[in-house]
Amino acid sequence: MNAPVAPVRLQPDFAQRPIPEAFLQALAQRFGAQCSTALAVREQHGRDEGAIQAPPPAAVVFAESTQDVQDALKLADQHAVPVIPYGAGSSLEGHLLAVEGGISLDLSRMNRILSVNAEDLTVTVQPGITRKQLNDAIKDTGFFFPIDPGADASIGGMTATRASGHELLLEVIPPKDTLAPDDRGEAVLRAIRHFYDLGLKPEWWKVGTMARENWEALDALVNERDPWCRGAVILGLSQPVEQLVQGFAQARAPVVKGFMIGRSVWAGPALQWLRNELDDAALRDAVAANFRALIAGWDASRVDARQDTTEGAAA
Ligand SMILES: Cc1cc2nc3c(=O)[nH]c(=O)nc-3n(C[C@H](O)[C@H](O)[C@H](O)COP(=O)(O)OP(=O)(O)OC[C@H]3O[C@@H](n4cnc5c(N)ncnc54)[C@H](O)[C@@H]3O)c2cc1C
Repeated sequence: MNAPVAPVRLQPDFAQRPIPEAFLQALAQRFGAQCSTALAVREQHGRDEGAIQAPPPAAVVFAESTQDVQDALKLADQHAVPVIPYGAGSSLEGHLLAVEGGISLDLSRMNRILSVNAEDLTVTVQPGITRKQLNDAIKDTGFFFPIDPGADASIGGMTATRASGHELLLEVIPPKDTLAPDDRGEAVLRAIRHFYDLGLKPEWWKVGTMARENWEALDALVNERDPWCRGAVILGLSQPVEQLVQGFAQARAPVVKGFMIGRSVWAGPALQWLRNELDDAALRDAVAANFRALIAGWDASRVDARQDTTEGAAA
């Protein structure tokens, strides 16, 4: 569990945009008592549990419905005013600070459960419900929401800050009929470059085998565009195990961290088993042999990758 940090070492400068008076009047007219400009309310919404301080937002709107959210955003858009959603205010890294001014949109009153779908193991909620409110409401269903970031955070806030610890893996598989006959990963590289241009920065990329020079180009691209990216893993696309092992040998660039391969391991033996050509034990042995061959191929390719690094450093 993270703990709020102590003293600030660097207090940044803030340049808050001026808030048009007409905007504040329009908010007051639309939201009445659901809108507050009281200093205490603004100050409470203009900080989180972190150490950095900023001047508060100009107003706080307490949304009670989707329509409220839509109307607040429409008004803010018309007047070019920033909007900062507010869940439970438990974030630690300055997420709630009005660094450019604007208003706080408090969603804590939107805390209803819309449906519980026990069969699908899903529940549909409004964003302001906190994890404890959710657990309280579903306790009789036999289910619970286990993710606990330490504070009684809202589901909207936890989603926005990825408090669950989930990471985004983006799988890139260009359709075969769009590829040039001699494509050896160039289309994937182009797609990844385009995703970066669009501002997408997943923690992981998942791509098929490529030529060595394209893995190296991916390594350089990731280092340039997103040094926080965790790397790439290789997918199988039902290729035979031997072919994949050859592919691993090309994938020596440091960006490659592993493989996530399924069908190449089990699909062939499973088909034979379904046709009664293999018994249970033979199925298990065939799947295990495929998996072992992949691991051996991967291990061998890593030894080569380490040699590449040592030779590169010595040169
Ligand atoms: C003692 C303590 C321990 C903690 N430990 C952990 C930990 O171990 N792991 C961890 O991940 N976090 C931890 N946290 C941080 C905090 O609990 C999480 O960041 C939490 O996810 C924030 O949720 P919130 O509802 O309080 O959001 P807020 O703090 O209100 O908002 C956080 C951000 O999400 C945005 N946001 C809020 N609601 C919405 C919405 N509906 N739609 C779009 N954007 C929205 C806000 O604008 C803001 O940028 C800890 C906090 C405390 C106080």
